[in-house]
Amino acid sequence: MPSADVVGLYSCGPTVYYFPHLGNMRAYVFADTLRRALRWKGIPVRHVVNITDVGHAVADSDTGEDKLEVAAARERRSVEDIADFYTRAFMTDMAALNVLPADRYPRASEYVQQMIEFATRLQERGVTYQIPSGLYFDTTKSDGYGTLALMDIAGQREAARVEQVEGRRHKSDFALWRAEEPGVRRVMRWDSPWGYGAPGWHLECSVMSMALLGEHFDLHTGGIDHRELHHVNEIAQSEAYLDDGDPWVRYWMHNEFLLLNNAKIAKSSGPVPRLDDLIEAGYHPMAYRLFLLGGHYRSQLDFTTAAVEGAQTGLRRLLARIEPLRPLPLIETYEQARAALTAIADTTPGEAAAGGAEPGDKTALDYLELMDEAISQDLATPRLLAIVQESLRDQEITPAGLRVIVAAADALLGLRLNDLDPAALDRRRSAADLDTAEIETIERLIADRTQARKEKNWPRADEIRAELDRLDVQVTDTPAGPAWHLR
Ligand SMILES: [Zn+2]
Repeated sequence: MPSADVVGLYSCGPTVYYFPHLGNMRAYVFADTLRRALRWKGIPVRHVVNITDVGHAVADSDTGEDKLEVAAARERRSVEDIADFYTRAFMTDMAALNVLPADRYPRASEYVQQMIEFATRLQERGVTYQIPSGLYFDTTKSDGYGTLALMDIAGQREAARVEQVEGRRHKSDFALWRAEEPGVRRVMRWDSPWGYGAPGWHLECSVMSMALLGEHFDLHTGGIDHRELHHVNEIAQSEAYLDDGDPWVRYWMHNEFLLLNNAKIAKSSGPVPRLDDLIEAGYHPMAYRLFLLGGHYRSQLDFTTAAVEGAQTGLRRLLARIEPLRPLPLIETYEQARAALTAIADTTPGEAAAGGAEPGDKTALDYLELMDEAISQDLATPRLLAIVQESLRDQEITPAGLRVIVAAADALLGLRLNDLDPAALDRRRSAADLDTAEIETIERLIADRTQARKEKNWPRADEIRAELDRLDVQVTDTPAGPAWHLR
């Protein structure tokens, strides 16, 4: 349990039944920025990110199959395999995006007993009712239900993505326990006072955050889509459970949507790209991180290939400018940066001669104040990026001061400005970059090569191979014929 001077931070984590997509990543880069800002201020943080490996039914509804179980059936694997596999995929993406690891990643399946105890207490408090499909929370028993969503209760009830449930008293009531339908045996099932079944998906966040951060804690983050329903329900059940008259969590912060070519991802048809798709297309995860930080977390951000291309070019230029300054000093907090800049003034030879501080240090200290202001004003990362660029162009700043400023900015931005190899940002060309004429040339050469080999004309086949090499084309012979890609 954290002590009073450690900030408790809880971020709604992934449901591990499929690969997380680029839109999901925005929530974690946002939470990471918040963590870095707290570290900058010298505030210790305990961060918890849950792994939803049970309880999240299809289509965010209260009834029906579990997403994990559907995925397990689809992929012919056990639910445990599915959860492990996609949890690892999530962690890999987090590391690639340089997101600081959370202190704990609790799995919902390990807290089912506590969830049952939590729901039992709610039942004792008289805020629940039982119907054949399970135990439901009566939202009319919750004072101020839906306040977080900034909607009136009527609007909130309409917003709830709800399906018809036999016997449910109000549209906004939600399942605490989802009972097995008669004759249907779930793969993931637990015994409970309300029969065999699985917990409702809002329950885990209340239970695991209280278990790991204490009953009340400071910060809860998530995507804006959670503000209308998931978080509203977390608050209702948690405050009914605690029943102490205090707000459960002090501050809620939500990041806006990532749009895909100007459309909401939830409404997009076809697969939503994930980080691996970007890497495959020759983009670096840090270019995607820069793209995200280039927008304020409370603004919608439109993902297009041109935008991430622009971010990659921008990052390459930034690194080229920073490379001569490396190695950067280790800076994590405002105080460290301030001390480092003050030390430059104290130790430069010019100080003795001039009898005062170097003017460059004063300039660097001004930039430090600007950066501190930007991050303190609701995590203004676009402003922070502009300040770094400005400092790099400034003739007045000393090299030592500039090193500190860049290192300090990176403590907040997490763009790996100290160690990222600019060559890693040279985008490989992919077939998508070629025009029709180039593709025709390559395919004609491959057809000629096949013909030459058929005729056992080896000198001609070698000649063509050399020509393809020159074009950076790699040919692989497969049972379906030759396949090619650009090296
Ligand atoms: Zn949650």
